[in-house]
Amino acid sequence: MSIVAIVGRPNVGKSTFFNRLIQRREAIVDAVSGVTRDRHYGKSDWNGKEFSLIDTGGYVKGSDDIFEAEIDKQVELAIDEADAIIFMVDVENGVTGMDEEVAQLLRRSKKPVFLAVNKVDSANRINDAVEFYSLGFETYYNLSSINGSGTGELLDDLIKVL
Ligand code: GDP
Ligand code: MG
Repeated sequence: MSIVAIVGRPNVGKSTFFNRLIQRREAIVDAVSGVTRDRHYGKSDWNGKEFSLIDTGGYVKGSDDIFEAEIDKQVELAIDEADAIIFMVDVENGVTGMDEEVAQLLRRSKKPVFLAVNKVDSANRINDAVEFYSLGFETYYNLSSINGSGTGELLDDLIKVL
């Protein structure tokens, strides 16, 4: 089964998105010591296509007190093991230095990357999302993990590469 990893800096909404998509959690023991507690696995499907979803970075919730190296490690793992990567950013905060660092790692990988601009809860945030073109990906997906809008467009394209 294909594996899809969700990466990005803390508080962008990765876990909210993950919880919206998964039907059941999977008990997979991570081979890499120290990262198990930072990763959640679940099973999801879209239009009949099943895939495993990994939520990364369950660290210090609601805090910016996190080592960038931790995020880099999660991104490297995702590049290694995932068939596709959802790179989540947050339109409320705009582009951050950490987003740029993650983008740089992902652009070097051969894996398909889907840039998801989260927290686009209302139409007036659509224009704000344009700044994420600066991260260097061909396109991006506006979505709201809280109300579900835009998730369908992302998933339609995601399952095409699985
Ligand atoms: P993570 O650290 O990337 O896993 O982010 P979380 O899923 O824990 O979410 C961080 C915060 O952002 C929480 O307060 C969420 O309720 C909030 N959040 C997540 N998705 C959305 C969204 O689509 N819109 C808004 N306005 N807030 C969101
Ligand atoms: Mg989380």
